[in-house]
Amino acid sequence: MNPIIKAENLTFSYPGDEESKPVRALSGVSFEIPEGSFTAVLGHNGSGKSTLAKLLCMVNLPDSGRLWVAGREITSPDATEADILAARRDVGMVFQNPDNQIVATIVEEDVAFGCENLGLPPAEIRKRVDEALAAVGMTEYARKQAYNLSGGQKQRVAIAGTIAMNRRCIIFDESTAMLDPMGRREVMEIIRRLNREQGVTVLLITHHMNEAAMADRILVMNQGKIILDGTPSKVFGSPDAMWKAGLDVPQTTELAYKLRRAGIDVPLDLFDPDDCAKAVAAAVQRKMAKSGRGGKS
Ligand code: ADP
Ligand code: MG
Repeated sequence: MNPIIKAENLTFSYPGDEESKPVRALSGVSFEIPEGSFTAVLGHNGSGKSTLAKLLCMVNLPDSGRLWVAGREITSPDATEADILAARRDVGMVFQNPDNQIVATIVEEDVAFGCENLGLPPAEIRKRVDEALAAVGMTEYARKQAYNLSGGQKQRVAIAGTIAMNRRCIIFDESTAMLDPMGRREVMEIIRRLNREQGVTVLLITHHMNEAAMADRILVMNQGKIILDGTPSKVFGSPDAMWKAGLDVPQTTELAYKLRRAGIDVPLDLFDPDDCAKAVAAAVQRKMAKSGRGGKS
């Protein structure tokens, strides 16, 4: 599948001022994101995740390296205004704080805001807003005051705003971090559906390992570089590398790792607690049978 985003050797530093030196935030970052994929980005604070997201949304331009969005090289000296505009429309971002993202008082007006900036005809905006609100399960709140909503509902409204703009790729920069467990589940469910049912490419920056385990692929960042890149099974399947980078693995993986060291053979890549529990029960039974203590010895 064609990459929606291709990055080659991206480098970015924040300029310093009189008191501070420039900060190198990204060094030689290269990857391709296939259209329609679901990628999680992990890394501790300051590892460069948000900086990368801002380059992909064209909030900032890289100091060096090349970046393609939907086949257009936006870092090319030949890139036109129209190329950049088109690329900006393709990639949207949902941020961490639900309160900072609502710009209008009424929910449906907020969802319409981006479409109005695109200058779309009112009938088209109406249709897109209705569809987007339905996609995030917020139809009944269309005429409600946005400030009264819960954090999870506000994030769903923010997501609806990006859906209404027909984004091909949405970057979620810790968009579940400020939500309670219920809000987090609601938002994750919508992100998964957007990806699976509507083919929207998802980049999910998160600190929650169970959220990352839902992705097709995980990129792990450390000090402005990508240090691990693979499926959740591969990345979490070598927990030592994650621990070395100061990161966690899902609790099921940690449990399985410790059980394996105690001689109970459980796979490291069962991220659902029910699946993990079944595997542990089966492994314990196998072990007991082997040592002659099982019922069938
Ligand atoms: P993350 O999102 O993984 O926490 P960031 O991309 O925000 O990491 O930050 C990467 C590095 O860039 C950090 O060292 C951070 O202090 C620095 N940084 C981030 N934003 C700015 C800024 N606006 N000005 C100066 N330095 C910044
Ligand atoms: Mg960040």
